[in-house]
Amino acid sequence: MIGLLKSLATTMKHALDGEVYTVAYPDEVPKVSPRFRGVHKFSQERCIWCRQCEKVCPNDTIQIVMDDKRNGEQYNLHIGQCVYCRLCEEVCPTDAILLTQNFEFTGDTKSELVYNKEQLKAVPWYKDIDPLEVREPDRGGWVGEGDGEVDYQ
Ligand code: SF4
Ligand code: SF4
Repeated sequence: MIGLLKSLATTMKHALDGEVYTVAYPDEVPKVSPRFRGVHKFSQERCIWCRQCEKVCPNDTIQIVMDDKRNGEQYNLHIGQCVYCRLCEEVCPTDAILLTQNFEFTGDTKSELVYNKEQLKAVPWYKDIDPLEVREPDRGGWVGEGDGEVDYQ
């Protein structure tokens, strides 16, 4: 009984302290954690078609199609079945595939949630936040690091 009263007191304390934890979306744009994992963005210019992302993905979310000369033709990602483990991003040696913080995507059918490389290239950063800048990784030895801005298109 005492435990119940304590939990009720805690609930009432937080209910009446004036803090608001919800936002009136979509009129108000919510903040998301820097670690939030949203829809992927792909850079064809950075991709070397090594297929490591496809191999590491635990549930075949990524399918890459290459021609007989090993040139990349298709990069498809079934966002509807992704578990957002971020393994594809971690294994990519060139930062060609990144999970943005963008959660604003919908689809009525499964096929609408299969994104091809053109759709993945067009995924916008959420609030212009580049996740690599937020996470500040040590990218010194990675391919593609340069002085200029990275073009993810
Ligand atoms: S985040 Fe995980 S499940 Fe989603 S595509 Fe990448 S490796 Fe696959
Ligand atoms: S791991 Fe990176 S470079 Fe390799 S195929 Fe995937 S996106 Fe392209």
